[in-house]
Amino acid sequence: MSGPFNQPIDAAEVPRFAGQASFMRLPVASTAEGLDIALVGIPWDGGTTNRAGARHGPREVRSQSSLMRRVHHVSGTEPYSIANIADVGDLSVNPIDLMDGLRRIEAGMAEIVAAGAIPLSVGGDHLTTLPVLRAVARTRPVGLIHFDAHSDTNDTYFGGNPYTHGTPFRRAIEEGLLDPSRIVQIGIRGSVYDPGEHDWARQQGVRVIYMEEFVARGAIDVMAEARAIAGDHPTYVTFDIDSIDPSMAPGTGTPEVGGFTTREAQQMIRLLDGVNIVGADVVEVAPPFDLAGMTALAGATMMFELLCVLAKQVSDRRQT
Ligand code: MN
Ligand code: MN
Repeated sequence: MSGPFNQPIDAAEVPRFAGQASFMRLPVASTAEGLDIALVGIPWDGGTTNRAGARHGPREVRSQSSLMRRVHHVSGTEPYSIANIADVGDLSVNPIDLMDGLRRIEAGMAEIVAAGAIPLSVGGDHLTTLPVLRAVARTRPVGLIHFDAHSDTNDTYFGGNPYTHGTPFRRAIEEGLLDPSRIVQIGIRGSVYDPGEHDWARQQGVRVIYMEEFVARGAIDVMAEARAIAGDHPTYVTFDIDSIDPSMAPGTGTPEVGGFTTREAQQMIRLLDGVNIVGADVVEVAPPFDLAGMTALAGATMMFELLCVLAKQVSDRRQT
């Protein structure tokens, strides 16, 4: 039943290196109307505290996403046969005004949500997830499954500034966008500013799973816990590319050694099957620090993994 839905450009007709780049070689739509899933770029890194460059992420992920084929080789999912999906372009951003940037991202994402499409976005730095949550969680708090080297629950930077890519989930909890008892952070590691850096998050009820615990338990056990924390309620999934080891994903602003392999990350995303996902993103791909496009390829691959989980969810609901 592939007839009624958008299809990627056929690689047997137009080779995958040819033509204009769009996410997964799908048609570019002017709005999210009529879509089940909207793929969207958020080219903004105004929250970056150290090495900037994630503003260039969406364009490079579009390019590398031309390597993704139609069918998931493990689940057999054919996302373009079971869900209507398009690239809706990039949200409007403002690279020189942080507060206006946040407003524009929220407004753009609100249009996608109002159209009834599930957003799957590519950042941008991790602060972009805050205005996305303001749109996605406008009517009720949501849960969060968060893959990252960093908790991103710090309070303020640089003289009390509350908005950086190190603070989005603290702000989102404070704003009532997230139910902290349904947040799980997986892959946290690296040196911190303060010995109590993750205390605030834990005090709110956030489950913080350090990389060392992941290594000891493995993906199947950790993701069973993550699914239990998310429960049946609406949940957002956010994937910071720096959760992957910099040997496999060097193109990011805040690399931390000792991370996931790309294979472990793929396995974990596949284990999201059954979670009630209301939106997802891949953030912090920073092409200026990349080598041979390998980080953008990792980002595009995680995006395809997420897309297959989302498309199956759409299809399962249509049939019930
Ligand atoms: Mn992050
Ligand atoms: Mn991070």
